[in-house]
Amino acid sequence: MKICMIGAGYVGLVSAACFSKIGWRVECVDKDYGRVERLKKGEIPIFEPGLNEIVGETVAAGRMTFATDIAKAMQGADLVFLAVGTPMRRGDGHADLRYIFSAVDEIAPHLERFTVITTKSTVPVGTSRRIEERLRRLRPDADFAVCSNPEFLREGSAIQDFMHPDRILIGCDDPRAEEILRALYAPLASGNAPILVSARESAELAKYAANAFLATKISFINQIADLCEHVGADIQEVADAIGRDKRIGANFLQPGPGYGGSCFPKDVAAIIRTARENRAPLSLVEAVQHVNEERKIEMTRRIRSALGGSVAGKTIGVLGITFKANTDDIRESPALTIIPILAGEGATVRAYDPQGRSHAEKILDIAWCDAAADVADLADAIIVLTDWDEFRTLDLRDLRRRMTGRALLDFRNVFRPIDAKAAGLAYIGIGRSARQYTAIARSIRTKHPTRPARRDLQKTAVM
Ligand code: NAD
Repeated sequence: MKICMIGAGYVGLVSAACFSKIGWRVECVDKDYGRVERLKKGEIPIFEPGLNEIVGETVAAGRMTFATDIAKAMQGADLVFLAVGTPMRRGDGHADLRYIFSAVDEIAPHLERFTVITTKSTVPVGTSRRIEERLRRLRPDADFAVCSNPEFLREGSAIQDFMHPDRILIGCDDPRAEEILRALYAPLASGNAPILVSARESAELAKYAANAFLATKISFINQIADLCEHVGADIQEVADAIGRDKRIGANFLQPGPGYGGSCFPKDVAAIIRTARENRAPLSLVEAVQHVNEERKIEMTRRIRSALGGSVAGKTIGVLGITFKANTDDIRESPALTIIPILAGEGATVRAYDPQGRSHAEKILDIAWCDAAADVADLADAIIVLTDWDEFRTLDLRDLRRRMTGRALLDFRNVFRPIDAKAAGLAYIGIGRSARQYTAIARSIRTKHPTRPARRDLQKTAVM
């Protein structure tokens, strides 16, 4: 089978690399000439652990190629995947489908034989049908089927997620297309991943419902964290306790400064819009969206308050810009809301991010540091916005020595309050109880540690 992957972004490039890794031939097309040229030279334009190696291997094996010319890439293609962006449309929150439909118009003249056209992009319910109608108008003679195959990978663990999915979802109403898609995914389904074949509408909506649910989980734990601060409970302990309940699950129970990224904000907005248009409003998801927007602003209030009511004239060191660790993606990152507010109020911001700097430099007019510890130099406060692992090993005493002030606002609960306090820092975490700040640590033996990176936090419950 030959696959034409349209879009060589986070989803397209990872999907193309993984399909070719399992043996299929993939031609990856992107209209961004610079991106394709870099890929041809072996440069990977995004940071995604493990991607470099797979692309290098599959290109060397001749199974993966890159192009800007869609006509050439379509030659002999059995399957076309649409993996272009579907950003939020200005004004109404709907998904902007202009890239999808322009890709559809580009492939139309090149349909030669029976071809399966599949959306990997996240598209509103009904889009497969609209693509089909459009193609039937453009090419009444062509033999094709339009399917939906939403992608559930997460940036930062995209290869693992693609190769070992929880499920493979195929929205399809054409038996020939179903057979081809089942064969395509057979190598991945030979593990434990079930292939779910559904109506196209179900597949399309399932992707939005999944993201809306995960966003809800994040906003929920953020509000529970706020409650912890008022009642003497500790969010790490609460999250651990509820996360071990299999009905709830431990993932997406980390409190923070609000969710961001290229998917949750736009997908939450889009499902709200779809629901309103269909007169089945999702008031719960609307509340989630509101809570998340407010949360980013609330973080700036906490910073202001830690600095005596105003950030004007203060120097603030920022650790982390990306919306989460292990990606260079800064789209809709809370940092992009929080930092401009601080800078706008007269703060000098110095920031460090292991991967996001090149993107962020184009947007944020602030000072950039080459090493994490450098953000501490002459800082009145340090704020942690992303939970990069390398921050966990920073020498807090060294940070304190380099600072002018002593506020450490840890919006990802990366550090242990007790360590920060020992280093002379005034620690403000998210949802931490007062007893996490006191001196005597008691070790709790845990039989089923669920989140290794956080385990240390739970180990130190203090009398
Ligand atoms: P992206 O912006 O990283 O990549 C999209 C690419 O498509 C860009 O390189 C762009 O140049 C290219 N493109 C646009 N129009 C084109 C055309 N006509 N021909 C060829 N190339 C074209 O986007 P992404 O993050 O990969 O997301 C793609 C889709 O996948 C979105 O719908 C998104 O919601 C969904 N998704 C993303 C993730 C994620 O973690 N990023 C996860 C699951 C689903």
